[in-house]
Amino acid sequence: MEGLHSSHDGMKSVKRRKFKRNKAPIEIGELAKGISEGSRLSLAKGITLLESLAIHDKPVGQELLRMLLPSTGNSIRIGVTGVPGAGKSTFIEAFGLMLTKAGHKVAVLAVDPSSSITGGSILGDKTRMELLARDSQAFIRPSPTAGTLGGVHRKTRETMLLCEAAGYDVILVETVGVGQSETAVREMTDFFLLLALTGAGDELQGMKKGIMELADGIIVHKADGDNLRLANKTVREYRQLAHFLQPATPGWTTRALPVSSLKETGMLETWVMIKEFKCLMEQSNYWTDRRQAQTRSWFYSMIHDHLIDSFYAEPGRKLQVSNFEQKLLNGQVTVAGAVKELFEQSPKKSD
Ligand code: GDP
Repeated sequence: MEGLHSSHDGMKSVKRRKFKRNKAPIEIGELAKGISEGSRLSLAKGITLLESLAIHDKPVGQELLRMLLPSTGNSIRIGVTGVPGAGKSTFIEAFGLMLTKAGHKVAVLAVDPSSSITGGSILGDKTRMELLARDSQAFIRPSPTAGTLGGVHRKTRETMLLCEAAGYDVILVETVGVGQSETAVREMTDFFLLLALTGAGDELQGMKKGIMELADGIIVHKADGDNLRLANKTVREYRQLAHFLQPATPGWTTRALPVSSLKETGMLETWVMIKEFKCLMEQSNYWTDRRQAQTRSWFYSMIHDHLIDSFYAEPGRKLQVSNFEQKLLNGQVTVAGAVKELFEQSPKKSD
């Protein structure tokens, strides 16, 4: 699905096509061209279009994506997770700056489950990563704050493609270390990196086991000052554990490294680990498999989202659901009975 070469073939035919919107019409060909040429302004505009909930914007956004699809797929997609306070933004900034200095173009996207529920976010704070934000070779985009959680995941996937079309070759997708979004980011990235903190022995073993089955790399972060000795010990524990557990990626033993973003140690080792992973995976064809798995999981999650959207989009549906909820709480129907009726009756009939 994702080609490796830049091409504007699809662009020519639609170059002059303007899409009608409430606001000024968008010259979609111009926008695609701007993104392909690496304009950060065009990229930001394109992402805003894809994030828009306006019905008119949907086909325009999809057309933009279709035009740019041939020039996507050229990045390494890295998921970064860790509990709040683990030092994700400090790490991403230091790591990102190292990569831009080495000639890479780095995009940082966020997937924040709290943003879709509250509109506010744990990750979206604008003061984060100030240095990286000012770097002309970096692009930072906070989590979309509107729509469902599924919608947030979809938008991040699409944003990732636009960033690739704009020439970003390293994409860091940051998420907080909780449940669903962590799994979603695992499914949309090539390498999954966990930022862990030093822990106190045995009681962490259970937790570590769960993490090891998800992560390709574990950074024991804040390995500096008084914490250095304990951090090195924690790294050894993770390494020992890695040999006994099911790896997150077949053919790759999960690695652990001590890193300090404050002292800027372990940054290069982290990058070397990720490059070795890519090299090994490409040799074993697992790279293509994982990319295909990403597309497949995106496809099924979109079917899922679409079903939910179309269910609730029917006029009167929300009222019908709340009426059934009341009946349920009054003991007039069973859960299974209510769901069956909801799917069998059009909303108007049951009101
Ligand atoms: P996030 O919530 O995971 O994004 O965490 P932050 O990046 O905001 O960092 C949380 C706190 O940890 C801040 O006070 C940072 O200064 C501190 N911190 C981050 N990285 C390091 C590190 O490498 N060493 C030490 N000692 N502190 C760090």
